[in-house]
Amino acid sequence: MTAGGRGLQGRREAFLALPPETAQAVIQERLEEIRAAGGLEEALDCLHRWELETGYITREKLEDVERLAFPDKQTGLTFRIQVNHARTRYSDAQERERRDSPPQAEPARGPEPAARQLCLLCKDNIGRPGKESLRVFELEVGGRRFFFQLTPFPLYPYHFVPVLREHAPPALNARSLADMFSLLELAPGYTVLSNSDVQWAGASILSHLHFQMLRGLRLPVLEARPVPEAGRRIPGGRVEFLDYPMTAFRFTGAEAEPLRAAAGALLEKWKSLDPGRNTVNLNLVRGPGPEPGFQLVVLLRNPDYRTPEALRRFKSEGVGVVEASGEAILPVPRGPEAPGMWRVIREQGLGLVKDLIAGNSPPMPGGLAGVTELLEHAAAAG
Ligand SMILES: [Zn+2]
Repeated sequence: MTAGGRGLQGRREAFLALPPETAQAVIQERLEEIRAAGGLEEALDCLHRWELETGYITREKLEDVERLAFPDKQTGLTFRIQVNHARTRYSDAQERERRDSPPQAEPARGPEPAARQLCLLCKDNIGRPGKESLRVFELEVGGRRFFFQLTPFPLYPYHFVPVLREHAPPALNARSLADMFSLLELAPGYTVLSNSDVQWAGASILSHLHFQMLRGLRLPVLEARPVPEAGRRIPGGRVEFLDYPMTAFRFTGAEAEPLRAAAGALLEKWKSLDPGRNTVNLNLVRGPGPEPGFQLVVLLRNPDYRTPEALRRFKSEGVGVVEASGEAILPVPRGPEAPGMWRVIREQGLGLVKDLIAGNSPPMPGGLAGVTELLEHAAAAG
């Protein structure tokens, strides 16, 4: 079987017919051909379909999710909750593994070498037990190599994780923004998300730099209304402070460069107010409608601000960028309290999701004056 001389459709069909044991090198080569013929989004579409065929991701995992939507008169937004059954089973399995492993198997303090061996994102996970059919697509992004892999427990279909090829920790800075714009340029139909670089402040895996990309996802915060008078012009666009339960700023504009510079300045300024603790979550998409443009939301985070005690029975894990952006991901309620918890989720879900977001939001020092200072700083750099 040869791919020579075939069009995109032929290459796609040949790719989808590859057996589950196909070597990573062959997957890479075929996806490069598909990308050359049809772009990155075609290659990602093929990888997603192929991983469904191999069972690395399953329809059951994609569909075993209860999705609820809650219109909110106060903000004009529709907040969301998803109760994710498949992820709950995954967390259970991880918990069992932790419980059953002898204490000496725990990494000692100063966990770098042990953590390195256990890294869930490093490329050498390909083919490991439980990940026999994990395959990835590697490419250059803004001068560095990243590989795209599917998360085995997706929040939505087409939930990819672009991972830096080298094992290096994330650091949110101007470089992260540059990476995100480069990723979006390669796959404009996707949302590019970044968790943070500080534990308990919207971080996920802190040892290895990665982003998240989901096809066609628009999270509620993107539609938030600006607070009147709390906006500034930047070349080709605006930066606005948002009427939202978390302290958040939205940059919109036709050109990537000034937007990136302004957002980078705001990010650095916020981080400098409490170094090593202040951080952000980021949410980048192409603007809606026919105008080519960008929307970037910067959500402020700090580990002192976490899920309120009263809500921890619904959500004990940290709150990441998807939740900060308006969609809570909850495990399935269990035990004797479960019926009551389900009632709260269904009948008071709006208050639940807004309180979850608000509890994780650091207040702006100086209130609106502090906000104005950040806006001025960003606008001056844009
Ligand atoms: Zn790693």
